Amino acid sequence: MRSTTLAPSPVTATIDLDKDGVQHGFLRLPYSRDDSAWGSVMIPITVIRNGKGPTALLTGGNHGDEYEGPIALFDLARTLDVGSVTGTVIIVPAMNYPAFAAGTRTSPIDKGNMNRSYPGQPDGTVTQKIADYFTRALLPRADIVLDFHSGGKTLDFVPFAAAHILKDKAQEARGFAAVKAFSAPWSMRMLEIDAVGMYDTTAEDMGKVFVTTELGGGGTARAETVAIAKRGAMNVLRHAGIVGGAIDALETRWLDMPSGDCFAFAEDAGMIETMVDLGENVTKGQLIARIHAIGRTGVAPAEVRAKLGGLLAARHFPGLIKPGDCAAVIGVEV
Ligand code: ZN
Repeated sequence: MRSTTLAPSPVTATIDLDKDGVQHGFLRLPYSRDDSAWGSVMIPITVIRNGKGPTALLTGGNHGDEYEGPIALFDLARTLDVGSVTGTVIIVPAMNYPAFAAGTRTSPIDKGNMNRSYPGQPDGTVTQKIADYFTRALLPRADIVLDFHSGGKTLDFVPFAAAHILKDKAQEARGFAAVKAFSAPWSMRMLEIDAVGMYDTTAEDMGKVFVTTELGGGGTARAETVAIAKRGAMNVLRHAGIVGGAIDALETRWLDMPSGDCFAFAEDAGMIETMVDLGENVTKGQLIARIHAIGRTGVAPAEVRAKLGGLLAARHFPGLIKPGDCAAVIGVEV
């Protein structure tokens, strides 16, 4: 547990988070720098509140080069009718705003990876200060948390919503119920390879219902994946009882990540040749990618094989790959 003697957060909200109505404002974080001695990082926030009721915290741009969440949330912040809301919807379309504004995964200010910076530090780097504000000021308000991700510039996914496999099975079931309500084409029972410092873990440790997504990737967004994000956000609000009406339910196929064997990491540098496309079935041992040496001709490509059977849920996106890069992720249909 973190000490209760932490310094106050340097972040201030320019709006009253407890006021009824629709408010558009900023989370303002002082950031003194060459081009602005008394400058600030200004993170857009919208609060839509209509009396007592549950609170949903909706976020995108945790990584700055993932776009379905920000597109859906800037749209929702502008269009959600306060009269249709019971309770509160807090929308932060771009959590790591400096990264989002630069179009990069991590912050250009401190290289902070937001989803490895939790629970944050009020006296830390810019990224750690933002994380700390979410941990101590925003997450405690929330009953349900939806954090949008996609593959960014280096990964591409079959579009899925996900919740984590948790020790607390009642909490886990609440997470999976919210994932089902989201109604992405795919739903993932997610295993993390690197859960330390994640927003997800911080929210889950506070007992929150937490839903995340991976809705595509490549550092862009597609019409299909944006539509999934918009429908999913509304469905989560309906599921939480914040917005009325029936869930716009679509059939979803559940995927599991039973072990670390789901991940295939490159051991060679070169040019990746994907041998199967996203969503295609693979068998154990199947060749899923080849890595061609680019420095000379006449060299046999290195092989990446599936360590288990399932379907290709994610793949490396850029044409060039390095040792240690995630080449592919296999999901196992439940
Ligand atoms: Zn991400």
